[in-house]
Amino acid sequence: LAERLQSSIKKMKGKGKVNEQDVKEMMREVRLALLEADVNFKVVKKFVANVKERAVGQDVMDSLTPGQQVIKVVNEELTSLMGGEQSKLNTASKPPTVVMMVGLQGAGKTTTTGKLANHLRKQHNRKPLLVAADIYRPAAIQQLETLGKQLDMPVFSLGDQVSPVEIAKKAVEKAKEEHLDYVLIDTAGRLHVDEDLMNELTQIKNEVKPDEILLVVDAMTGQDAVNVAENFNEQLDLTGVVLTKLDGDTRGGAAISVKAVTDTPIKFAGMGEKIDQLEPFHPERMASRILGMGDMLSLIEKAQTNVDEEKAKELERKMRTNDLTFDDFLEQLAQVKEMGPLDEIMNMMPGAGKMKGLKNIQVDDKQLAHIEAIVKSMTKYERENPSVINASRKKRISKGSGRSIQEVNRLLKQFDEMKKMMKQMSGMQKGKGKQKGGF
Ligand code: GDP
Ligand code: MG
Repeated sequence: LAERLQSSIKKMKGKGKVNEQDVKEMMREVRLALLEADVNFKVVKKFVANVKERAVGQDVMDSLTPGQQVIKVVNEELTSLMGGEQSKLNTASKPPTVVMMVGLQGAGKTTTTGKLANHLRKQHNRKPLLVAADIYRPAAIQQLETLGKQLDMPVFSLGDQVSPVEIAKKAVEKAKEEHLDYVLIDTAGRLHVDEDLMNELTQIKNEVKPDEILLVVDAMTGQDAVNVAENFNEQLDLTGVVLTKLDGDTRGGAAISVKAVTDTPIKFAGMGEKIDQLEPFHPERMASRILGMGDMLSLIEKAQTNVDEEKAKELERKMRTNDLTFDDFLEQLAQVKEMGPLDEIMNMMPGAGKMKGLKNIQVDDKQLAHIEAIVKSMTKYERENPSVINASRKKRISKGSGRSIQEVNRLLKQFDEMKKMMKQMSGMQKGKGKQKGGF
């Protein structure tokens, strides 16, 4: 066991640089994950090339393993691909700020207009005017008026007999008169991009000179969202994108592609149908989300722990039957250590955040050596049957290992916690129908 421990630590330490093989293996997984998340394949290709170039030959930070280091680069590159920083709404130097909402039918323009108005008032104490400029879709005006009532905000409408250009122009005049801060123009959409639509939108744009043209796209449409964004951007020169329906089970690949292809920042994300379910878009969080969903952990595992399948299975069995021994414990600690702080790892796993007591299990080199000393001072029988360790045995173990009784107690407690946690985890993994090797 000691040898095994030594060699695994040595292996980890010996890797001062990230080598090409590490990166290659990791990137195969990352590429698949991105394609699965519906990221445009050209974007994926370029992305993978970027990461490779950045990651290979990098010095491995002390706190990370090569696998984690690559993930870190992936995360950073993803974040920068999505614009890096959170991108704010443009504002006019002199109010009102005019925002034009554009997009295909059903993308969520009207809903987002209401949400944005709510956000501007709530977060920034601003007074918006909602403008009903979709005169084609039956009940479109009414939908916005209902939202206005719900929010107790003014809605500007001239019915469906006046041209949208005229409506937009009059609305801006009215906002000026009434000293409102924002004019949010809800425009018409079509099922597909077409010339009539673009002409109308261009006319509105030329008339009111908006400070912000926000394209509303449905994240669930994946690759299509990218084509739509490209089209709208060519015609209108967008200033921002709102990605809606990110609350669905979409993995957000559209977020990456849209920004990469149009070079237009995503400013907001729609997270549900309710009026308050609009959030400023944070590239970093999105990157974690795309990498996340449990895959992060499996990536790290695949890349750098050599959990042998047989062993993992044996451990699973032990967890379930609850006869985990201290020898297993020690071995697991060594693996956990290789992956990083346990609570951090757990945070990457969906649903795992709920587990308690994890903060108490942290492993660094020194602690690991102490733990090892304590475990080694146990008899074989004690290691396999920790419940027999009573006060006198504790005293003996403490003497033998040169560690205090308190430390022995703490270890016994941690062991119990780990046992409990593993039971929970094995339940979770069974529930997902997925089996993972590991601690
Ligand atoms: P428009 O045709 O572009 O104006 O689209 P609507 O605003 O009428 O929205 C179309 C549908 O999408 C409605 O049923 C909305 O409730 C729904 N919707 C809009 N945004 C979101 C979102 O972020 N999440 C979810 N789940 N549904 C949304
Ligand atoms: Mg609408």
